[in-house]
Amino acid sequence: MEPYARDEDGKIKGFIVDLMDKISEKAGIDYELYFSPDGKYGNILNENPNGMIGEVMMKKADFAVADLTITEARKEKVDFTEPFITNNLAAIIRKEDQHGAKTLEDLIQYNEETAKNAAEHSIAYGVLKLGATEAKIKSSDSPAAKAINQWLDANPNDKVDTLVKGIERVNKGHFALIAESTFAEYYTGHECNLTSLASKDLTNRQYGIALQKGSPYLTKFNDAIKELKSAGTIKELMDRHWINNCDNKQ
Ligand code: GLU
Repeated sequence: MEPYARDEDGKIKGFIVDLMDKISEKAGIDYELYFSPDGKYGNILNENPNGMIGEVMMKKADFAVADLTITEARKEKVDFTEPFITNNLAAIIRKEDQHGAKTLEDLIQYNEETAKNAAEHSIAYGVLKLGATEAKIKSSDSPAAKAINQWLDANPNDKVDTLVKGIERVNKGHFALIAESTFAEYYTGHECNLTSLASKDLTNRQYGIALQKGSPYLTKFNDAIKELKSAGTIKELMDRHWINNCDNKQ
């Protein structure tokens, strides 16, 4: 999904494809990409493998590349490369729902205070179902994560099946999608009525390529990623794909 990968006339396009072209050139390997059949990242909250992580675990794919977050649970099932992007969590909301908040934590404070006074939240929290963000929210001790988690436990319908559906909910109003900041920046640079509130506490989300355990490609991929990072190539590719069409620098 944008800006990472999209289907354009039967061809996969996006940041990930440009990244893989660079990696394959450096590592001297050929590759072919397909979308994971269920469109998921990889369930990590129960034992059934699915999504991209499942494709690698079941040895249907040699590797999975996406905005795929490196997590301890996934590391038990697959090998990850060096991170190629590091980012934080953020809340995506309509500007008119911002209420002066500058960070994800500010929004929570506003919302929890409102709930105390009015016995209801003015803004609902949503998250992608069974993704790394949901897992992070569940396991974090930060007051903001606890408040969001409590909300999600009481309102499971606010967990969305895809991030794009989450953005649709945000556009309907009074809904904050908790997601990763690079995703948030892309959308708030395209849908100018939206804004992204970065988290101060929920940080250091890293994307890596997932390979089969013990994969012979791991070292080659790592060497290529290291070179591309130090040459500034990954940054260049991001600048090419993260175009901000809105007049609101993040
Ligand atoms: N990057 C996440 C993952 O790898 C998906 C998006 C999210 O959970 O916000 O599961």
